[in-house]
Amino acid sequence: MKYDYDLYVIGAGSGGVRAARMSAGHGAKVAVAESTWLGGTCVNVGCVPKKLFVYGSHFAEDFEDAASYGWSVGVKGFDWATLRDNKTAEIKRLNGIYGNLLHGAGVEIHEGRALLADAHTIEMNGSVFTAETILVATGSWPTVPEFPGSEHVITSNEAFYLPSFPERAVIVGGGYIAVEFAGIFAGLGARTQLLYRGPLFLRGFDDGIRRFVADELAHKEVNLRFDTTVTAVDRTGAGYALTLNDGTVLHADLVMYATGRHPNTRNLGLAEAGVQLTESGAVAVDERYRTSAENIYAIGDVIDRLQLTPVAIAEGMCIANNLFTSRPKRTLSYSDVPTAVFCQPNIGTVGLTEQAARTRFEDIDIFESTFRPMKHTVSGRAERTLMKLVVDPADDRVLGVHMVGADAGEIIQGMAVALKAGATKAHFDATVGIHPTAAEEFVTMREVRQ
Ligand code: FAD
Ligand code: NDP
Repeated sequence: MKYDYDLYVIGAGSGGVRAARMSAGHGAKVAVAESTWLGGTCVNVGCVPKKLFVYGSHFAEDFEDAASYGWSVGVKGFDWATLRDNKTAEIKRLNGIYGNLLHGAGVEIHEGRALLADAHTIEMNGSVFTAETILVATGSWPTVPEFPGSEHVITSNEAFYLPSFPERAVIVGGGYIAVEFAGIFAGLGARTQLLYRGPLFLRGFDDGIRRFVADELAHKEVNLRFDTTVTAVDRTGAGYALTLNDGTVLHADLVMYATGRHPNTRNLGLAEAGVQLTESGAVAVDERYRTSAENIYAIGDVIDRLQLTPVAIAEGMCIANNLFTSRPKRTLSYSDVPTAVFCQPNIGTVGLTEQAARTRFEDIDIFESTFRPMKHTVSGRAERTLMKLVVDPADDRVLGVHMVGADAGEIIQGMAVALKAGATKAHFDATVGIHPTAAEEFVTMREVRQ
């Protein structure tokens, strides 16, 4: 064999692990390098520990709501160390599972930081390996802007391992991570403020959804400050003082920045191997994930298409199929990718927002419903649910499905199948509901919003 490996994968995260395992399953000789954690961001400091924290933070409301259902619950308080450490134990278990999956598939694991010496040569821990094909799946890292005192702030990476739980938390940013962690910190008992630089957070989501979530978070006692930027963070005796653009000073025990993530491309030897980057610093690839070096491919957050685990996994599946099987070549469609934001209540969404649809279609119909979930008719909680369908009246096709409410992520997954299948509003209308659920509202909305 001319090279040590058929495929050398750099990064054992969501995309890299899937590509490595599947390629080995198709008969390729594969190694994967991992510098930090098996399973990558999602398993270690992303989706999984985040969702466990979301579950943990919801108990406060559940205990309160239980009283209306006749339960006397003697809550003795919340112990951060228990949640943090039980979460870490689960992550360790998953790290082991990822190791076993790779070993079981015959993939060699190289622990350490890899870099490219040239288009076929990888250096790590003083060893040199060669590979016919190289896959860059190095993920992304939190971006924190430079400003006076930026060294005092943490990112989501550190939030998973806090030595103690803050009484007052300030979160800066208005994307997925900021709203999810605002819910987590508030639910676990911190006085929580979210600062966003623009007039309304969650840019890119449906405007109606964004406004609705802002109202719901306010009910959860998350203090939202829009059109707000931080000019400096200073250490005080007990915590931090944040100076804002309008001169206001906020005090907090913890300041977390959730201001986006940049692709991990630094010091990787990409230029030496002939791999070009896009203007925004992601690895540039074609529709089959080939970079400007013909034997080097890249997938996942490092190509910055959609920074979502199922997307990285689907890209990894394409790589294994296209490089190591004789089956028809595959590409991935980035339209109608469903997504959920695990704020409280959740956002679930697939397809076009109302605003995007209006720019592409002459006319669109909106079906919309807001209601108090049945559970809260008895608990009395003010939480509400929003459901919305965006329809093209010309051919009756459903272009977008959006929801804010309990388990929206679970509900929208099924809606995404319908959209992929080209469902029309008539299909929704002909579908019998499941009663009593919130989801049945999606098949019973009949009046076009005026
Ligand atoms: P990663 O999973 O980041 O894996 C890259 C791996 O490469 C890492 O393990 C890294 O250590 C390794 N590496 C980097 N450089 C080198 C090198 N030179 N040598 C060796 N190894 C290297 N997505 C969802 O779909 N749902 C969610 O609920 C969700 N929640 C999230 C919550 C948070 C707080 C964050 C930060 C992200 C979340 N995401 C979520 C996004 C998701 O985690 C990422 O999109 C996904 O992990 C990307 O997979 P990847 O394989 O591209 O990169
Ligand atoms: P996002 O890109 O979602 O949001 C970044 C936020 O930070 C935006 O509100 C942005 O504002 C703001 N921002 C950017 N730069 C600055 C700055 N210099 N000063 C102040 N604010 C700034 O990134 P996240 O960090 O929240 O998450 C990264 C990605 O991880 C997500 O995009 C998503 O793909 C993935 N993820 C997915 C999750 C899920 O599936 N549930 C959960 C968590 C993460 P503006 O809008 O004005 O640009």
